Amino acid sequence: MTPEQFRAHAHHLVDWMADYLGDVATLRVTPSAAPGDVRRELPADPPLAGESFERLFADFQRIIMPGMTHWNHPGWFGYFPANHSPPSILAEMITATLGAQCMSWQTSPAATELEQVVMRWLGTMLELPSAFTGVIQDTASTATLVALLSARERAGGGDGAVVYASEERHSSVDKAVKLAGFASDALRLVPTDAAFALRPDALHGMLTADTAAGRRPACIVATVGTTSSTAVDPLAEIAPLAAKHGAWLHVDAAYAGSAAILPERRWILEGVAGADSLVVNPHKWLFTNFDCSAYFVRDVPALLATFSADPAYLRTRYDADVANFRDWGIQLGRRFRALKLWWVIRSYGVDGLRALLRKHIALAAEFRAWVEADGRFEVPAPSPFGLVCFRLRAEAGRGEDADPRNRALLDAVNADGRVFLSGTVLGGRFTLRLAVGQLATERTHVELAWNLVRAAADPA
Ligand SMILES: *Cc1c(COP(=O)(O)O)cnc(C)c1O
Repeated sequence: MTPEQFRAHAHHLVDWMADYLGDVATLRVTPSAAPGDVRRELPADPPLAGESFERLFADFQRIIMPGMTHWNHPGWFGYFPANHSPPSILAEMITATLGAQCMSWQTSPAATELEQVVMRWLGTMLELPSAFTGVIQDTASTATLVALLSARERAGGGDGAVVYASEERHSSVDKAVKLAGFASDALRLVPTDAAFALRPDALHGMLTADTAAGRRPACIVATVGTTSSTAVDPLAEIAPLAAKHGAWLHVDAAYAGSAAILPERRWILEGVAGADSLVVNPHKWLFTNFDCSAYFVRDVPALLATFSADPAYLRTRYDADVANFRDWGIQLGRRFRALKLWWVIRSYGVDGLRALLRKHIALAAEFRAWVEADGRFEVPAPSPFGLVCFRLRAEAGRGEDADPRNRALLDAVNADGRVFLSGTVLGGRFTLRLAVGQLATERTHVELAWNLVRAAADPA
């Protein structure tokens, strides 16, 4: 491809991108593709001769697009959002164009220093104590693994070490405990209260019993905004327990942490001053393209002690004076991810970002009120953010298991194609989840979701 061909194709693509963002609402949120449909359309062998970009793009439109799920659709209410925004997309174009490896300061000084500044901005937005230093990781799963590896290092190894997290923790905690080399029975699951938040009294009892039995509490993972129901573990009560037992306290606020930029939601991080690390995903609810996971850590030397490697081929004469982010996590090569976060924060301003989050929270509250006013449904958990959990009640007096009806309800709503919700199990019962968090989502889309739910709940 010559530079002039590149220019022409790129202009064409930008037009396509703008049209896509404008038209995505007219597409089905999830494709109707069956397993194997896309693969069957693709040749088994790579082409020997190069092909024109026109052919590549035509096949993208014909084969790939019909098999895509549209996470940025205004009717996207599943899982948690993986939202993005125009300024973030533009930054990703530049990141791809520069193609820089931002592993050391020297391999892109501006990328390292911008990351430091933007993470400081984000720390200020979240009102984190200045003792925290930020670094961008690819995902919250990686950030939690980084925290557990640091905790193990600080505990002097994994032998006899135990890790605590609530019964509602994210599965990435289980994965990280395993990957970090803790024993297979090292993860202690702490019971939760009626609102699905970790019970500090139960944690206290487990810490005491384990310590008495000669085990070493290495880490406590508290979740601010659990994945099933956005429950908030009480950091202010957990932090003193972590301090007393010398355990690393990691806060998994992957989704809900973004809400701490709102003064009226900052309470969710109350007690974070006693934590060792925190992860918040701007790629979930701060309009920044996947991947961008903000990891804040208090004890940078402990982090570096865990991850530094100093092979001769990476040494530079600046190493004593700069941050080399290759030593701040697992990967060596790193994408230039700070640019998109910088442009998102500057484009919207902190006030603009707050207004978007408040809009999502208000839409979720409105949806919740509609569900609560309909006697057929129950709402089993609080909704402090953009998520509402709800389900059909079991029919009174029949001891009925309502799970099959709720699963059928979710399938019926999603089959329509204009909205997408996901499900979970809360308190042992299948529960639907509606998570508001896409840039393009308006009241009409939430209303449509409710109308589809209502209609599907009452097929008569
Ligand atoms: C989504 C989520 C994660 C995992 O996030 P990734 O960035 O995809 O790894 C971890 N914890 C919680 C609470 C989440 O909601």
